[in-house]
Amino acid sequence: MRDEASPFLNVAIVGTGPTGLYTLHHLLQFPRPLTVTLFEAGGLAGVGSPYHPETTSVSMLANIASIEIPPLQESYLDWLNRQPEAILQVYGVDSKALHDRQFLPRLLLGAWFRDSLERMVEAGRAAGHQIALREGAQVTDVAPLSDGIRLCFTTGVREESLIFSHVVLATGHVWPEDPSQDSRLFVSPWSGLIEAEIPAARVGVLGTSLSAIDAAMAVACQHGRFPQGDATSFQLSPGSQALRITLMSRQGLLPEADFWCPLPYQPLSHFTEAALALAREEGSAGLLDRLWTLFAREMAAADPGYAALIGIAELSPEGFAKAYFAPRLEIDPFVWAEANLVQVDRNAAARRTVGWRYAILRMHEPMETMVPYLDETDRARFDALKRVFVDNYAAVPPQSIRRLLALHRAGVLDVLRLGEDYGLDRDGGVTRVRAADGGEHRFDVLVDARGQRALGVADLPFPGLRQRLGNREGPVPVTDSFGIRGAGEGRLFLPAAPYLLHRMPFAQGITASHDMGATVAAAVLEPATAAA
Ligand SMILES: Cc1cc2nc3c(=O)[nH]c(=O)nc-3n(C[C@H](O)[C@H](O)[C@H](O)COP(=O)(O)OP(=O)(O)OC[C@H]3O[C@@H](n4cnc5c(N)ncnc54)[C@H](O)[C@@H]3O)c2cc1C
Repeated sequence: MRDEASPFLNVAIVGTGPTGLYTLHHLLQFPRPLTVTLFEAGGLAGVGSPYHPETTSVSMLANIASIEIPPLQESYLDWLNRQPEAILQVYGVDSKALHDRQFLPRLLLGAWFRDSLERMVEAGRAAGHQIALREGAQVTDVAPLSDGIRLCFTTGVREESLIFSHVVLATGHVWPEDPSQDSRLFVSPWSGLIEAEIPAARVGVLGTSLSAIDAAMAVACQHGRFPQGDATSFQLSPGSQALRITLMSRQGLLPEADFWCPLPYQPLSHFTEAALALAREEGSAGLLDRLWTLFAREMAAADPGYAALIGIAELSPEGFAKAYFAPRLEIDPFVWAEANLVQVDRNAAARRTVGWRYAILRMHEPMETMVPYLDETDRARFDALKRVFVDNYAAVPPQSIRRLLALHRAGVLDVLRLGEDYGLDRDGGVTRVRAADGGEHRFDVLVDARGQRALGVADLPFPGLRQRLGNREGPVPVTDSFGIRGAGEGRLFLPAAPYLLHRMPFAQGITASHDMGATVAAAVLEPATAAA
């Protein structure tokens, strides 16, 4: 029975990817009964866009292992250990070799998320919460009222609307629409590439990171296979000899392989919360330089050899970014990848940590908390350092690098450095790319795999909300708890990465989903907690 002193909480969560699930998880810890309705536009709730069978195939690996994934009801590894051998075999996983640092197919992670949702709903109901799950229900509008939020949604059969005390818009990834009927042009790897039949032809992929690797795998696996399971070789199918995949980016660099390091993170010595708070207290002017001084000190303490070699004491953030990438730019990306893989494998076997890599990894999240306080000039300057952080934390599973190398050895895969001033046009079904090397490169199929772009007010798919925010240009204004400023008065939250990238450039990842879910749940429950 409801406690009359506490406000009635009737919460809607829109979107049931990882962020929606972690929000639910934290809400359900509340000791008094809540009413929660989950809306999922897709037919299958609880999976999340990158882990869904419609966007992902078995060859695509998660770049996060159980040791880093915040549990939902139980840990990912505990769940894996409960799965029947036959199920794991479908994903190419050996039940006897399971461990908490393993990179597994994203589809398997999606299955864990879905199962966790079912178990949370069951346990939540048993604890007295009212939980409704609306699958195939797409929220089409959001209208803040004086004491609640109205949601309009469509089930494909009819339009409905309901009022909630709080609404959490955990709507996740937004891929570009593809208005063209061009079957040889994919505006993202998630706009039909997985199901499309791609000819054994010249395939250009814009991007060299995780999404681009996905695209390359999706195409390559239509035309051949990795026969040994361990991805050291790739065999093209008869008749597919003409397949050539080219990954393209400005720098033409491949990602690094994920490296071994102690988890949870060991504390930092200089780039600490207290030091960052002090740097921030001095105001926005010169903030990036003050943060850089702390960064350089941390690097020197963590890895004096690397710091001296790169001359960090004399460098600016921009200079460091240049020096960081320079050795890779001088070498063929596949030669570099091979050497990097050997080093990563050796270090993992010896449980040896590369100090400088680990320091950058541990600094990326604290650094992100400072981004909203950088002034315009420093934000622009930060771009160079941002690329270093992204390069470090977006390292991919070593297995993915092994596969890229196998594709390259088979003559199927190449990397093209575009340079800053490249040209691209599509004419008569062929894409022509003019790159830094001065040459013209032609592709029969083009996939744009440059990842999630930042979105703003104008991109919100909810006309009522856009109007409430004045149909203005620019980012959606949010509080530190992801409450939308100027709409909903602390009842409407937007923990959706594309809308937050301007202030949280590293917000993409399952741990970020967890942290956002925890923050939003605490903000929703705050009035009820205070009244208790
Ligand atoms: C290709 C790719 C691979 C990735 N791999 C990893 C990885 O290995 N490890 C990692 O940590 N991170 C990875 N990420 C980062 C990824 O952003 C997060 O892991 C996670 O998916 C974010 O969760 P989310 O719930 O915010 O968004 P999503 O997973 O996108 O889920 C959003 C959900 O909301 C639903 N929805 C949207 N709008 C509406 C609406 N109007 N009404 C109802 N429902 C709606 C969608 O259908 C979807 O189910 C990857 C990202 C990409 C693009």
